[in-house]
Amino acid sequence: MNFRTRFAPSPTGPLHLGHAFSAMLAHDLAASNGGKFLLRIEDIDRSRSRAHWEDQIYDDLHWLGLQWPEPVLRQSDRLAAYDKVLDDLWARGLLYPCTCNRKDIAAAASAPQEGAPLHGPDGIIYPGTCRNRHDRTIERPKGVPLRLDMTAAGRALLETDQSNATVGTFQEAGAGPDGETGTIEFTLDEIINTIGDVVLSRRDMGTSYHLSVVLDDAAQDITHVVRGQDLFEATRIHVVLQALLDLPTPQYIHHRLIRDDAGKRLAKRDDAQAISKYRAEGATPEDIRAIVGL
Ligand code: GLU
Repeated sequence: MNFRTRFAPSPTGPLHLGHAFSAMLAHDLAASNGGKFLLRIEDIDRSRSRAHWEDQIYDDLHWLGLQWPEPVLRQSDRLAAYDKVLDDLWARGLLYPCTCNRKDIAAAASAPQEGAPLHGPDGIIYPGTCRNRHDRTIERPKGVPLRLDMTAAGRALLETDQSNATVGTFQEAGAGPDGETGTIEFTLDEIINTIGDVVLSRRDMGTSYHLSVVLDDAAQDITHVVRGQDLFEATRIHVVLQALLDLPTPQYIHHRLIRDDAGKRLAKRDDAQAISKYRAEGATPEDIRAIVGL
């Protein structure tokens, strides 16, 4: 069986124990299934990505004993591919430009008639201020954020006009934060209410995490996406995009998060758990495996 996993770090800081766990899990799963483990550098955020962090990723992963085919896919080399897909989605009337800043969104979402603002995978669910403000038949505007019109996207996928119909499905072979596993289905109503119109092209990047991850998992023929539970909710966005773009939906294996002693999830800025720190202190890759429970 063709079995391909990947590890997709962003070079914006040192890899920590959580990254090591995710990478080793993806690597081990590929190895035990006679498959391949691929590496991808998610460096679309040019303001935060640094060449030295990228070098350190290669170094740490090699030290952990992981191997992957070269060349490594780097998202900064794929901007033209992302742009082409944005053209396609724009031509289908599924995107609209949004000029709201964070403050505008927070203010509109907490207007008295709206109740408490609801949060989705990308923060406050967009209240739709710009949704019908702009002509979608003109040429695609550049240099402005573009949002996916989730209602229009769902309608394009559904053959019925019932918004409580299932609009997407994926197989979860790991578990979401509330133990969700097996066949995960969701309706159009659910994604409108709990995700909303997400940004697919950010002003500063010309793309977004959601769009790039979907296109790159397909370009790298990934069959099993192994990643942290914090991305479980966002998977519904990815499944909608795969369906819109006629791309296969891989299986998902969301794994537990490695926490620090206080139970807090690890972040890039917490150097205390950096792999490089353990290396400097003389730890072995076997020690790292034992610490994360592999
Ligand atoms: N680049 C993302 C991160 O470093 C991972 C994305 C994914 O695995 O889908 O958190």
